[in-house]
Amino acid sequence: MANSFSGIAASNGIAIAKAYRLENPELNVEQKNITDAEAEVARFEKALGQSVSELEVIKERTAQQISEKEADIFGAHLLVLSDPELVGPIKERISSDKVNAEFALQETANMFIAMFESMDNEYMKERAADIRDVTKRVLAHLLGVSIQSPSMISEEVIIIAEDLTPSDTVQLNPEFVKGFITDIGGRTSHSAILARTLEIPAVVGAKTAMATVQNGTLVIVDGLDGNIIVDPDAATVSEYEEKQAAYDQQKAEWATLKNEATVTKDGHAVELGANIGTPKDIAGVLENGGEAVGLYRTEFLYMGRDQFPTEDEQTEAYAAVLKGMDGKPTVVRTLDIGGDKELSYLDLPKELNPFLGLRAIRLCLEMPDLFRTQLRALLRASVHGNLKIMFPMIATLDEFRKAKALLLEEKAKLQDEGVAVSDSIEVGIMVEIPSTAVMADIFAKEVDFFSIGTNDLIQYTMAADRMNESVSYLYQPFNPAILRMVKMVIDASHKEGKWTGMCGEMAGDEVAIPILLGLGLDEFSMSASSILKARAQLKKLSKAEMESQVDHILSLSTSDEVEEFVRTKFVNA
Ligand code: PEP
Ligand code: MG
Repeated sequence: MANSFSGIAASNGIAIAKAYRLENPELNVEQKNITDAEAEVARFEKALGQSVSELEVIKERTAQQISEKEADIFGAHLLVLSDPELVGPIKERISSDKVNAEFALQETANMFIAMFESMDNEYMKERAADIRDVTKRVLAHLLGVSIQSPSMISEEVIIIAEDLTPSDTVQLNPEFVKGFITDIGGRTSHSAILARTLEIPAVVGAKTAMATVQNGTLVIVDGLDGNIIVDPDAATVSEYEEKQAAYDQQKAEWATLKNEATVTKDGHAVELGANIGTPKDIAGVLENGGEAVGLYRTEFLYMGRDQFPTEDEQTEAYAAVLKGMDGKPTVVRTLDIGGDKELSYLDLPKELNPFLGLRAIRLCLEMPDLFRTQLRALLRASVHGNLKIMFPMIATLDEFRKAKALLLEEKAKLQDEGVAVSDSIEVGIMVEIPSTAVMADIFAKEVDFFSIGTNDLIQYTMAADRMNESVSYLYQPFNPAILRMVKMVIDASHKEGKWTGMCGEMAGDEVAIPILLGLGLDEFSMSASSILKARAQLKKLSKAEMESQVDHILSLSTSDEVEEFVRTKFVNA
């Protein structure tokens, strides 16, 4: 009997093949008392050494077969194994508690995993996954258990697993592994990222796959929509085969657009940029034909560590991004910490409403030394490319003026010190607070550009916490209230000869794109993997035609009405 369920679409495409369950090896750890602590520490070190050698081989293989960028994942694993903050307490535990290495390892690792997982932060959750993966490898060596190896698969299959570790994923040979389904994970987990790189269709976070799918059963993985169909009938199989054929054809068309400018049917050019979190993401931006970086979220540089990054460290990171983009526009957002993004080493009082609290520019103005360090680093890096600096969470003109004054002060100081600084840095703001959208005409006289942060603009306009699932129905990018605000911002900027971009999730949405084109948005910034699809869509649209629809769209009453109108007339047409 066919059975279907869904998860998170993690890597596009459709695969149809037999299920291959990748079971986790039984790594039963018992607490044992030992007498010779020195010998036990030596046993632990041996397992550590074996794991290091194994990881070095996998890292090397990945660098050769996939890319240096993907191989970095194993660099991260090797770092975990050489981290004295993890290894030290394990040895300490063996010696002081006289317990076996397996137990000391598992207990210590679990403590770190729980700590990282409890953080409301995707990046730290991924570090927890790294520790879990590495712990499994060392435990297997200690216990003398072999880890099931996906590289042994020699027929076409779809892998079903609770989770795929990066070391599993890298062994996946796309010739045989046609797709995979995991019960846990999200779009930004390592396995999802690797699946996109390998172009293997994948659905993650499926929750019940391991519990319900038997080895050898025919399975369809629809990585486009996140669907899984177990034991499909012939009609369903052919329906999905057609969907895959259509997708393949589409992809081939998109790939031809990599080096093209983004120009609509009627000759109007817009810029397609990418949102990035680290300098490493630049490779993906260029592979996907990104024309700019529309948002570099610098807070990631401050996370996953125990002290602030120094001015030199920051300069290096910003310069790497600017050099990587080779003169293309690069919008770097200053520190946006607070809200759901916390820094362990920044001990701020707990707030009742952190999203409405001391975050982003408010925090930077409250802690000017912290802010000045970042501004100096940005200014020093500015000579390496086309830098644009953007302040987040601006609510009043006064905040913008204060932030800009600090920037100019640091610029003057650097110049006095004889340090070269670019003379053409644009300074703009994120429009993500309704007061700023409403006052855009006033702001437009003083800023060089706007970038609309719809993730926050929607949460503040609709008064709906973006982290709270029970009010997620109020995340309504097509609500005419939001669209009218977007229009106000774009119009205000154009009146003053300035430009407006959008770096919230909305910018990459296929229903939003035609509307934003009609509203005159100049720059669309999205995840790198969405760029080619957006370019293909924009090339088929006419700016003049969309402009002529704006009055009607903005006069509609609800988000659903807007979505239905645009989808039928301009997306599925
Ligand atoms: C936004 O708010 O739309 C945005 C792009 O910033 P972040 O998601 O980092 O808050
Ligand atoms: Mg924001």
